[in-house]
Amino acid sequence: MTDPDFIRQTLDALESQGLRRRLIEVGSAAGPHIKVRGRTVLAFASNNYLGLANEPRVREAAKRAIDRWGWGAAASRLVSGHTEAHAALEADLAAFKHTGAAVVFPTGYMANLGLVSALAGRADVVLADRENHASLYDAIRLSGARLERYPHCDAAAAMGVLDEHRGRPGNRLLVTDTVFSMGGDTAPLEALMPVHAEGVLVLVDEAHATGVFGPTGAGLAEALGAGEGITATVGTLSKALGGIGGFVAASREVCQLLVNRARSFIYTTALPAAACEAAREALRIAQAEPERRQRLLQMAKSLRQALQAKGFDIGRSASQIVPVIVGQPERALAMAAALMDQGIFCPAIRPPSVPHGTSRLRISLTSEHTEDDAARLVEALAHARDI
Ligand SMILES: *Cc1c(COP(=O)(O)O)cnc(C)c1O
Repeated sequence: MTDPDFIRQTLDALESQGLRRRLIEVGSAAGPHIKVRGRTVLAFASNNYLGLANEPRVREAAKRAIDRWGWGAAASRLVSGHTEAHAALEADLAAFKHTGAAVVFPTGYMANLGLVSALAGRADVVLADRENHASLYDAIRLSGARLERYPHCDAAAAMGVLDEHRGRPGNRLLVTDTVFSMGGDTAPLEALMPVHAEGVLVLVDEAHATGVFGPTGAGLAEALGAGEGITATVGTLSKALGGIGGFVAASREVCQLLVNRARSFIYTTALPAAACEAAREALRIAQAEPERRQRLLQMAKSLRQALQAKGFDIGRSASQIVPVIVGQPERALAMAAALMDQGIFCPAIRPPSVPHGTSRLRISLTSEHTEDDAARLVEALAHARDI
């Protein structure tokens, strides 16, 4: 069988623009040092912010749960896949987020799909930050709602768009990441939240902030004291919590609606109970050991300062995600390769993940990195820049 021409042409076009992506095989567990193609490298390439993906107590919780529950959940949640482990995890998440309830999905991507498409429909309009995560854009498309994108982090522009839709029939929703996944900058929640008083439903995606920001690690809304009026929060179990799964934390009614309406909840198999038990243990550790997130954010601050002192463009990063913006995709690839030559794995991120002209290296720190690791990275970047 021969592939149609367009497939090869598409791949060739990506290649010639420096945009073709390839998988990299990793031969070890997550951590600051990982094995890539048989070689151990210092990695700044995971979302394992609190080092919980390979934490002994989390591993043990997963093993114990497998012994109790087996591996597969064997059914969707609404049939027979909803175990006591799922219910306990949802209760823990609701307590963590101070909401009436929570609903767990197989991934954060699916949580976004389910939430937006359950709350918005064809008659509604959704305002979205231009740099929101792709899963939110896919979710809006699935909902059939009218999409209005506002310039990145521009609350005044969002208000302007809202004005244009005042008095129209249907609901108005505003959706934003709190910590942006590719820039590491934060949404102006205090400036955005007043829309809630006008009856706008506010959905926030705390995927990168959960476990990291706020006095109890609940997220950026907690850190800013700006949680009042949020209709629903999305979080993931797969980043700071080091596992797999996503969740929505909201009122009991919103959560009941999701169980009845969210297609990505209804028409898919439940997470394994063991994934739920591992997430509960990870959440317990994240809350009991605040020094993990404190160390992470302190190290991130020093790293940002060191990079700026060397003249690197780190955008508006204010988190553990620190981009080094270099412009063209070929340049980002060349610098990533130069880092790899020095034993450092830091991925090049290119369009369509980021806007054209802003290709970058995306540094993501974890609490398991040391100050020495960060210093080594800064030196290696300075060297890679001169190639
Ligand atoms: C990673 C991410 C998601 C998806 O979460 P997964 O659990 O990986 O599917 C959703 N939103 C944002 C902002 C993310 O960065």
